[in-house]
Amino acid sequence: MTPVRHTRIDGPLVMIGFGSIGRGTLPLIQRHIDHDPATFTVIEPDGTHAGMLAAAGVRHLQVALTPQNLREVIAALFPDRRGMIVNLSVDVGSLDLMALCQELGVLYLDTVIEPWPGFYFGSTVPNAERTNYPLREEMLALGRRYPGGATAISCCGANPGMVSWLLKEALLRLAADTGLATETPQDRAGWARLMQTLGVRGVHVAERDTQVSARARPVGTFVNTWSVDGLLSEGYQPAELGWGSHERTMPPQGHGFDFGSRCAIWIDRPGVDTRVRSWCPGAGPQSGLVVTHNEALSISDYYTVGAGAAPEFRPTCLYAYHPSPDTILSLHEVNGAGLLPEHKHILTEDEIVAGGDDLGVLLYGHAKGALWYGSRLTIDEARALAPHQNATGLQVTSAVLAAMVWAAENPRRGFVEADEMDHARCLQVQRPYLGRIEAHYTGWTPLSHRINRFAELRDDSDPWQFINFLLP
Ligand code: NAD
Repeated sequence: MTPVRHTRIDGPLVMIGFGSIGRGTLPLIQRHIDHDPATFTVIEPDGTHAGMLAAAGVRHLQVALTPQNLREVIAALFPDRRGMIVNLSVDVGSLDLMALCQELGVLYLDTVIEPWPGFYFGSTVPNAERTNYPLREEMLALGRRYPGGATAISCCGANPGMVSWLLKEALLRLAADTGLATETPQDRAGWARLMQTLGVRGVHVAERDTQVSARARPVGTFVNTWSVDGLLSEGYQPAELGWGSHERTMPPQGHGFDFGSRCAIWIDRPGVDTRVRSWCPGAGPQSGLVVTHNEALSISDYYTVGAGAAPEFRPTCLYAYHPSPDTILSLHEVNGAGLLPEHKHILTEDEIVAGGDDLGVLLYGHAKGALWYGSRLTIDEARALAPHQNATGLQVTSAVLAAMVWAAENPRRGFVEADEMDHARCLQVQRPYLGRIEAHYTGWTPLSHRINRFAELRDDSDPWQFINFLLP
């Protein structure tokens, strides 16, 4: 079947980083976006996959971007205020790139707000400032300087990213299933009102990665299904979550912020060592790691009715991540050793023998209890759909593809987050790569099952309080 060509990108196309996500994104771009191959460049300091780039006919610029060389390297690639940068790297400062793209008149897209090296580890910056909240506030402040500028999409992979689009579909589904007559909202205020009217108290970005390799994980090697550096960086930031207006009890070691939208709190312990009870369709009740993620902040902010620290309505939102079995063991090892791993490995589609990734949104507290809505993609399906990626990767790369299409179709939107994009158009592009999109209702609450009889914080008067989710 001839693949659908969704759009055209005029001018140079530059991808920064050719790791697991970059390698998976390249074939999707070549399949679905018209562009001039002669002006497609990948900036990647590592030469390991140079052969793959050569075979794909893409220019390889083998250089590591730094704060010192960023302007010189990037400006030379964009002579005439056209083109797009897709930033899929670690260790390259997103905010400097976003500002430079505004100057150059170039479209921009990234999947996280990445700081320059030194932010995550080995710094003396207080924990409150090592959170994502100030990074996001800085991005928003920068964006306010460029209204109507070249479109710059912040944080748009699977999550953050696709989950914001799925959340809108889930809200419309919940409205239909509960008999609420509603039109599709046309603006932020409308979506926030819809969530409030439906009685949603909170949203978990609830993920279960079950992908396994036939080869036992060597002791001392950190194994993951996507960037090891990315997970370690965000995992050892403090846990962070959007803080709902219904919450009554601050968790132990929890702190608010005294600037910006006040939509979030942070907890003075690492996200990978902070667990919540959550729910996913394959596993049912499960634990998830509260790894800080931009969507936890942007979703709580976007769906706020009112403003400030005590709005009329705001949902709690957090990432409840159950990584792959090897990743859980790897984290266990790093936590115990207190040392970053010497060896790192990302499981490829060839070595994974079973499993998949269930990634969706769990909307809770409404008339039907809880609703999980998301993508269920197995490794076999991923292999059949696209080359060079596992199931986790394909959920991310297809979101990047969708965001690139949307940016090309909407080139003068200035800074945007996934919540502000046209979810229907983005999912239209992405859906063929998501396996099954399923909706599951469950009567489960975080108070449903307690095998342990030890004292823990709980609030029996309202199952949906955050402290009921929090594992001791
Ligand atoms: P990876 O670790 O496999 O690859 C990162 C790449 O960045 C490497 O190829 C590395 O050489 C390159 N790089 C490092 N320093 C660089 C520099 N100074 N200049 C240019 N390139 C440099 O990571 P990945 O799995 O491909 O993930 C890429 C990014 O996407 C990470 O930031 C990750 O956190 C993010 N991500 C987001 C989502 C999402 O859903 N939003 C999901 C997965 C990954």
